Amino acid sequence: MNLRHQAIQAIASAKHNLNRVDFKKTHLKDLFGSNVFNEEVQHQLLPKPVFKALQKTIKQGAPLDPSIADAVSTAMKDWAMEKGATHFTHMFQPMTGLTAEKHDTFLQPTSSGKAITEFSGKELVRGEPDASSFPSGGIRATFEARGYTAWDPTSPAFILEGPNGATLVIPTCFISWTGEALDKKTPLLRSMEALSKQAMRILSLFGNTEAKKVFTTVGPEQEYFLIDKNFYYARPDLINAGRTLFGCKPPKGQELEDQYFGTIPERVLACMADTEAELFKLGVPVKTRHNEVAPSQYEIAPIFEDSNLATDHQMLTMDLLRRTADKYGLACLLHEKPFAGINGSGKHNNWSMSTDTGENLLNPGDTPHDNAQFLVFCVAVIRAVAKYPELLRVAVSGAHNDHRLGANEAPPAIISVFLGDQLQDVIDQLEKGAAKSTKQGGFMEIGVSVLPKLPRDAGDRNRTSPFAFTGNKFEFRAVGGSQSVSGPNTVLNTIVAESLDFIATNLEAAVKGGKDLNKAIQDLLPGLIKESKKVLFNGDNYTEEWHKEAEKRGLPNLKNTVDSLPVIIRKDSIELFSKYKVYSERELQSRYLILSENYVKTVNIEGQLTSMIGRTQILPAALRYQGEVAAAVNATKAAGVDNSAQAELLKSLTVTISEFQKGIGELDKALGHHHANGTPYDHAKYYRDHVLPAMNHVRALGDKLEGIVADDLWPLPSYREMLFIK
Ligand code: ADP
Ligand code: MG
Repeated sequence: MNLRHQAIQAIASAKHNLNRVDFKKTHLKDLFGSNVFNEEVQHQLLPKPVFKALQKTIKQGAPLDPSIADAVSTAMKDWAMEKGATHFTHMFQPMTGLTAEKHDTFLQPTSSGKAITEFSGKELVRGEPDASSFPSGGIRATFEARGYTAWDPTSPAFILEGPNGATLVIPTCFISWTGEALDKKTPLLRSMEALSKQAMRILSLFGNTEAKKVFTTVGPEQEYFLIDKNFYYARPDLINAGRTLFGCKPPKGQELEDQYFGTIPERVLACMADTEAELFKLGVPVKTRHNEVAPSQYEIAPIFEDSNLATDHQMLTMDLLRRTADKYGLACLLHEKPFAGINGSGKHNNWSMSTDTGENLLNPGDTPHDNAQFLVFCVAVIRAVAKYPELLRVAVSGAHNDHRLGANEAPPAIISVFLGDQLQDVIDQLEKGAAKSTKQGGFMEIGVSVLPKLPRDAGDRNRTSPFAFTGNKFEFRAVGGSQSVSGPNTVLNTIVAESLDFIATNLEAAVKGGKDLNKAIQDLLPGLIKESKKVLFNGDNYTEEWHKEAEKRGLPNLKNTVDSLPVIIRKDSIELFSKYKVYSERELQSRYLILSENYVKTVNIEGQLTSMIGRTQILPAALRYQGEVAAAVNATKAAGVDNSAQAELLKSLTVTISEFQKGIGELDKALGHHHANGTPYDHAKYYRDHVLPAMNHVRALGDKLEGIVADDLWPLPSYREMLFIK
């Protein structure tokens, strides 16, 4: 019995404990936020002035008063220890795309041989992890181990429970001693600030004196696969690359459409409930769960929050999905394309802007005044996407996501905006609005007309669009399943900030010159729509016609990561990000380097794995089978019967095996190619052009062998098993 058969047997006889959480006994309401140092806890435990000062920082972005740090840290420690915490950690988001943490105990030995517990304000505010081994793209040579973590008070500290106690987790930024961002949180916070500043100018034109701050909101929907751990352990490619590098198309895939919104298998449901319970404790407002399109694929979606918090919570969601799956004998795959030939996993990034008084700025509203303001913000977004589509594209690039974007799957790498019929019609009317003397005279007039009700129901959805308006928010659908949403939102916030800046400057001048605001808007928007409308597309994004049409319109189509990376260090990108103080040129250069290197490393690992699995698992199985067939050919020949069909099988099998071996040889050659002088980007190009094709060739032959070799000899769990045996 080989590993694959053992896996199936283990699954068939396994018993899982599905009663770890019991919502009949634990009330949802008691669970939610129970491990968070949230406003309510702060209110209870902090002296009033300290509470007030901290809230001002959190809610209005006021600079943190350093003198309150000690009071906050002590309260945090006492609260945490009561919940079993022994350690604290500054959690940060380095350029690995994951979260990082180093734990320190509260314990402090005293001279008397005893110990006290301590957690000072200094330890809360700043940490110095010995974190020299994270990618920094040249910003920090590894011998200068100095990178600082800085407390982010806008994302509340929380308790992470472990089997033996708990850890107090403090969300932080990670920056070099020269102040450069080494992480994904710092630029996101900077971009939110940039957007707030520009959006406030628009609001003030509209006479809003209440709002003190605008923040962006994000609700990221996460797709993922769950397969049995026994299969996972028998697939070195899943363990080390996160995706299958071999596996022939199963007879049954997703074509029956019997999975989407289907009943959720019991073990999966228990795992989901457990994940949700853990997330509730951390105050992550997960709301929706359902089966996705592909077999064994699921989705979890939260209620939206401020982008910074939503991003931290999204990282926690990915982490807890993985960890909880393990408890149920499952492996959670977040990779963008774990299985070829069926849907991959994305992350729909629902995005909007909101005031601190709770007004969603992409909500059309009911009055002409609200509508006018909505149209300004909406056109600002359209203009931003039209002006910087390549930045959005590169923000979701990566070797993994290349298997979705621009490959045979949704959405395409061409960035376009879907508005839906009603809003498209409004925008069309507005575009013509400047020409007052037109035939019907029935055009939208800013500050006078009331918009038609924009539909928010699922019927009007365009599932194929990478960037769609969905009633009161935009949905950026190109983000990959395993990616942090931080990068895409940093770009989105910055490009919209630039648009709002442009519009505010224009309107301010007009109003100052004595023009009525509505008139000024009516004069400005048509031109903006004209220059941006090439990005608007309401049709099917998958079709060949759209790709041709997009090319005609001059929309960029950066098909893969390597094509898109140079955008990061283009002059206009550097100017944009420097102007709004989101990334410095040095930071952009470093990120370009890190992403190029990451591409090379990812494809290199996949190439090595393909070669190794090919040589040590598939080839031996194929050779064994070849031996069996050869024996049968000889035996039938000796018996004097017609064995031409068996001889033919032996021949074609031998040809495929030989080609397979040759293919592995070529792949090894491509992997062994060293060019000492190239930049990381040159290497990335090489890997795309030589290693990937060689890998694909080996895979095609390996998959062909899977369809020929005797099933009892085949070592790797197949697609038909991994996706359907639960
Ligand atoms: P729909 O039915 O249009 O998909 P939902 O309310 O179900 O709308 O939302 C889908 C996702 O969009 C959820 O994760 C939700 O939190 C998020 N979302 C809703 N409103 C906003 C908003 N204003 N900003 C950001 N995300 C939002
Ligand atoms: Mg969606």
